Amino acid sequence: MSEFWIRLKNDFQLSIIMMVALVSFVGITPYAIFRLIEGNWLVGVVDSFLVLCTLACVRYAWVSGDTIKPGHFLALVYSAGTVLVAINLGVNGLFWFYNLILFNFFVVPPRQSLIATMSALLAICAYGLVYPGEVFESHYQMGSFAVTSSLASLFAFVFAYRGRRQREQLNLLATLDPLTGAGNRRTMERELAIAMTEQKRYGHTYGLLLLDLDNFKQINDQYGHKAGDTVLKEFVAILDRVSRTSDRLFRLGGEEFVLLLPKVDQAGLERAAEHIRQSVEQQLRSPGGRVTVSIGGCLLHRGITDWPSWLHEADECLYAAKRGGRNRHVLSPLPVDQG
Ligand code: GH3
Ligand code: MG
Ligand code: MG
Repeated sequence: MSEFWIRLKNDFQLSIIMMVALVSFVGITPYAIFRLIEGNWLVGVVDSFLVLCTLACVRYAWVSGDTIKPGHFLALVYSAGTVLVAINLGVNGLFWFYNLILFNFFVVPPRQSLIATMSALLAICAYGLVYPGEVFESHYQMGSFAVTSSLASLFAFVFAYRGRRQREQLNLLATLDPLTGAGNRRTMERELAIAMTEQKRYGHTYGLLLLDLDNFKQINDQYGHKAGDTVLKEFVAILDRVSRTSDRLFRLGGEEFVLLLPKVDQAGLERAAEHIRQSVEQQLRSPGGRVTVSIGGCLLHRGITDWPSWLHEADECLYAAKRGGRNRHVLSPLPVDQG
């Protein structure tokens, strides 16, 4: 169960590709076999090709974690395949267009799927016009097909577009801290867990900085909660400016933040911590004057077995930085065999 279902549950696009793959495998394979036995080579080969492409795309999406390229490829292959099948089977093949419309809108973004679907519809109608009687039995039938399938595409487009926007908005709400725009705690937990897996599987290196504003309570107490909020937002803006685009910032709670830095070694983590500390000291101001930050840092090493202990190690360093007088950074030393 575990990893397979967790990935399917968390990755909507991957789950759609898997579902479509299962349906097309179960749904198309019998047709492919039937057509091949029947001696209808073109449709048999096209059907088999669709099944093989689907399986290859599932494998690629599963291994690489990239669902965008396989989605585009499948939309292209299925659109072309449906046209070929309709050309070969005539009216009986046209019914597959309604599945194609749904499929395209599931696996690729609305605009691209509208382009793919309309291209396939135009192609089959153009063929029908050039070779009358082959695909459609009459112009009236072609007109009915063109109108109903275009309407179905339009409805699917509107539905997919709205669904996508709502999903994006929900996703933002669910993953970001509303005050500062940094990632929220839940996002942090997920990304730290991913970093742990990537380190184990591929040997990618990661560093973690735990940042805590110094004497922040005084700002709230003396100048009000609103002034405190402004400092928090400005702090995040400074971090955005000074950290690399690949670094990810999360608000752990209150005035504590976590910065996850990929592809960094101990010296790089040290430089990043010092650069942040200095920038905050120079740039962050409250109505009462300068605001500073204390930082605890820890590089992900093989001795760390789960993300809570990684965070805990950084927290101990942060505690040491506070005890040492604040406005400083302390990094956890690497175990001897990894230094
Ligand atoms: P230290 O240097 O030891 O970190 O001291 P500190 O005052 O920063 O730490 P402490 O944990 O005592 O205080 C943190 C304060 O952060 C307490 C709380 O009122 C304030 N706080 C937590 N969340 C928010 C928030 O969303 N907005 C504002 N303005 N203040 C917050
Ligand atoms: Mg503090
Ligand atoms: Mg604190």
